[in-house]
Amino acid sequence: MSLDLFFDPKSVAVVGASRQKGKVGHEIVAALVAGKFPGDVFPVNPNADEVEGLKCYPNLKEIGSAPDLAVIVVPPKFAAGVMSECGQVGVKAVIIITAGFKEIGPEGKKLEDEILQIARRSGIRVIGPNCLGVMVPGKRLNASFGGELPEIGAVGYVSQSGALMTAILDIARANDIGFSTMVSIGNKADVDELELINAMARDDQTKVVAGYLESITDGDRFVRQVEIISQDKPVLLIKSGGTGAGAKAASSHTGSLAGNETAYEVIFDRAGIIRCDSVRTQFDYAQAFVHQPLPGGQRVAVITNAGGPGIMTADAIERKGLKFAELTEDTIAKLTDNLPAAANVHNPVDVLGDALPDRYESAIATVLADPGVDSVVVVLTPQAMTDPDGTAEAILRAAGGAPDKTILACFLGGQKIARAVGMLRRGGVPQYESPENAVTTLRVMSDYVAWRNRPKRVVKLFPVNRRKAEQIVERHLRRGVREIAEMESKDILEAYGFVTPKGMIATSADQAADIADQLGYPVVMKIWSPDIIHKSDVGGVKVGLNSPQQVMDAYDLMVYRIPKKLPDADIHGVLVQEMCKGGMEVILGMNRDPHFGPLLMFGMGGVTVEVLKDVAFYLAPITAEEARDMLSRTKAYQLLEGVRGQEGVDISAIAEGIQRLSQLVTAFPEIQEMDINPFVVGPEGSTPVAVDARISVEKR
Ligand code: ADP
Ligand code: MG
Repeated sequence: MSLDLFFDPKSVAVVGASRQKGKVGHEIVAALVAGKFPGDVFPVNPNADEVEGLKCYPNLKEIGSAPDLAVIVVPPKFAAGVMSECGQVGVKAVIIITAGFKEIGPEGKKLEDEILQIARRSGIRVIGPNCLGVMVPGKRLNASFGGELPEIGAVGYVSQSGALMTAILDIARANDIGFSTMVSIGNKADVDELELINAMARDDQTKVVAGYLESITDGDRFVRQVEIISQDKPVLLIKSGGTGAGAKAASSHTGSLAGNETAYEVIFDRAGIIRCDSVRTQFDYAQAFVHQPLPGGQRVAVITNAGGPGIMTADAIERKGLKFAELTEDTIAKLTDNLPAAANVHNPVDVLGDALPDRYESAIATVLADPGVDSVVVVLTPQAMTDPDGTAEAILRAAGGAPDKTILACFLGGQKIARAVGMLRRGGVPQYESPENAVTTLRVMSDYVAWRNRPKRVVKLFPVNRRKAEQIVERHLRRGVREIAEMESKDILEAYGFVTPKGMIATSADQAADIADQLGYPVVMKIWSPDIIHKSDVGGVKVGLNSPQQVMDAYDLMVYRIPKKLPDADIHGVLVQEMCKGGMEVILGMNRDPHFGPLLMFGMGGVTVEVLKDVAFYLAPITAEEARDMLSRTKAYQLLEGVRGQEGVDISAIAEGIQRLSQLVTAFPEIQEMDINPFVVGPEGSTPVAVDARISVEKR
């Protein structure tokens, strides 16, 4: 069923209405009345005749017809009874404001389940329980106790916290931000965030979908559907709290580096969601998306009446990775004609401290007309001659003349600019507290544009030997063995097109020397035990062994020393392996998030990865572009490209490795975690080698 009845009901019943001011049952009726809801409002309470001047009904049946929407504020123990009554009368949409359900523990959970069962049986949709309600300013519907209805606007908001919603409304009111809808979702027993985001995406009044979420109910569906919505409308989310995925003890590097927040970062990237770290920044971005066109490019021009703030803005542009617009000769000539001789006619354009509105206006219009300018930040400080209100009007006029270009204002000050700021906001030119905030907003907008224009995702499929990998995985599952050790992990990798060093297991020093002779020197030796995951930690790896004698000594030393350190480890022998020379050590890995699926990791540093923590994550399946993007997000990316005469490595070969890993973990949902560490990469044209690997599997 669509959620229309929640947003545009013709009649609303308030079950549990109260005459007593301050009680929620009273405040909801009062809010509906004060908001001038044009439809019928039916207070329901057997112990009252009248609430807020409206006739009160003893029960829903007495109303005589089914209201479109029922708001339930009765204590939890009566909620199920009211739900049944809703079912009998034919109410299809219910908001349960009352708290005391799932959030208080098993007892509350039982009541909530009971309500949900009735809802499912009777075809009733439920928002809540434990929520603040719903506000639709355009319909004059205030079915909430969140206070006065906000202004009508274009932001649709979903909040998982009722208390925060009141703060959001207050901030919005102070900043002239309006809403199309505002929904507090509470425990989301039935209607969840995704359904509401979808409803807002379909709603013509809503230009920007925003929200505060603590959890996401169905991660996989969320990513798929929001990716489609983001293509059309920006989705701005604040996300707090962890996924719980990190709680499980991880045995791989990837697992331990994938913190609680990683999954959210990864899925937000995929779905084009703009993540906000505060309500403040969320509104900074929202007002720009609502009122301003998306920037056509990254070239920013600044117009200011003060040198210092002009430089601050220029610095922010540089820091945020945007481009400083270069004005054309034509523009410079026009500015020279119209501005005093002392003015700076280059970006940042300084119209000087005595600039009156007309000077601002002509400069802004000239700069906006420049084909090399995508967006403009207008900075103002209230100096002796400055007319903030007049300048605000001038900016609005100039902006009206260039509807395709993004224009943001940054009036610095307090009381002197307060009125002008309100004028700007209401006129559709967003105002920012600092140049940094304005420029950050431009950056966010330009990232969103880039995301929308991203190439179509094509996931390349490599020819692989799936069957071979499957045999190994299944054998481990059958035997209940979680960890697939190095040798067999590498067999799986080879089946998926990775190159691994040759090697064999020796069970005596003589045999080790024989194997080394066959492989050719130098060789590497590694302790071979299903109980030892990180071999070098226990002295179980020796590299650069150059002679049979060194090999035999290394063998004896390992099988003598390691059992002393780890008396319980079952040691099967020593792996003698080809040594790969040169190259850079990186790690490729995967950690499967229970909600969102396989998170791929790329990181620098091989064994030192957990120290450096220079890693990037992405959701599988991955495309070639996304794999390259992952590499470029690490701090050490320049090392991969080559710096200061140091030769770089074959970046596309690493990207291919990530894509092959992606194909493997997508094909085998049983693979829970894995590391290829190190993955040794050499110069352009060379083939990387998966030197060490471990995979852990679990029955699905
Ligand atoms: P573990 O991760 O269990 O400690 P590895 O097999 O990854 O063991 O070996 C540890 C380190 O030894 C690697 O990061 C790499 O620097 C080096 N190493 C291991 N095997 C080879 C090899 N075949 N060629 C070159 N270096 C190797
Ligand atoms: Mg390793």
